[in-house]
Amino acid sequence: MKINYYIGLTLLLGACAAPTTSMNLESTPPLKEKFLFYIDENTNLHESELLTTIQLPSKDYLVPSVLNLLPNAKREYRSGYHEGIDFSAPLNTPITAVSGGIVVRSNPQHMDVDLDTYNAFLSTSAELGKTPDDIYQYILLGKSIVIDHGYTITSKFRTISVYAHLSNIAEGILPGTLVEKGDLIGFSGNTGTSDGALRNNKGAHLHWELHFDDATERYFLGQNIPSDYLHDNIKILFD
Ligand SMILES: [Zn+2]
Repeated sequence: MKINYYIGLTLLLGACAAPTTSMNLESTPPLKEKFLFYIDENTNLHESELLTTIQLPSKDYLVPSVLNLLPNAKREYRSGYHEGIDFSAPLNTPITAVSGGIVVRSNPQHMDVDLDTYNAFLSTSAELGKTPDDIYQYILLGKSIVIDHGYTITSKFRTISVYAHLSNIAEGILPGTLVEKGDLIGFSGNTGTSDGALRNNKGAHLHWELHFDDATERYFLGQNIPSDYLHDNIKILFD
C-alpha cells in the first residue's frame, strides 16, 4: 500500500508539473521584449548581447512605426515578405554606413530593366509563390551595397547590412573597401522598383536590411517579433 501511495504521489506531481511548465512557455510574449529577432530559445538575439549600437543609415530619417515599412510586412507584388526597413529618405539623400565593416557588394553598373521585363520577373515570383533569391538580389534591390560587419555588432552572429534602391553609389565604395561608421556610401533612389523600371523620379526611399548569420541559417532584424514589440525592439539597436 505504501509503495502505491508513493507511486501515486509521484504521478500526481508529474502530471501537475507538466502543465505548469507549458503554461510558462505559452505566456512568453513579454520574453520577446528587447529581442532583435527570436526564432526559439536557442536562436535569438537579445539587447544584452549587443556589443555596440549602430547609426541610422541617414541621420534625419528615423525608424518608421508604420508596420508596412518594417520587417515581416507582406510584399504581395513579389509574393514575399519584407526583411528590412523602408526609410522615407527622398531622392539623393546621402546614405551612410551604420557601422564599420568591409564592402562585400557594390554594383554601380546596375541598369534597371524595362517595365515589361520587370513585370515578367514578378510573374515568375507569383508562379513560384515566393521571391526567388536571384530576382531579389539582381533585379529588385537595384543599385545596392552590402557591408560585412563580422562579429563587431554581436559576438553571437556574423552581421551584414544591405542598402538598396540607391540612385548612385559613392566613389570608391567597391568590394573590399573598408568603411567606418558614418562614412558616405551612396544616395537614396528608386532603382529596382517599378518606378525605376519606368525611369521616373517617384517612390525614392532607402530599403535597408540587417542580417545575422550562424552556421546553418540567416536571420533578419525583427524576424518573428510580434508587431506590438517590433518598433521598440528595432529602436534599441540604434544610437
Ligand atoms: Zn523595403
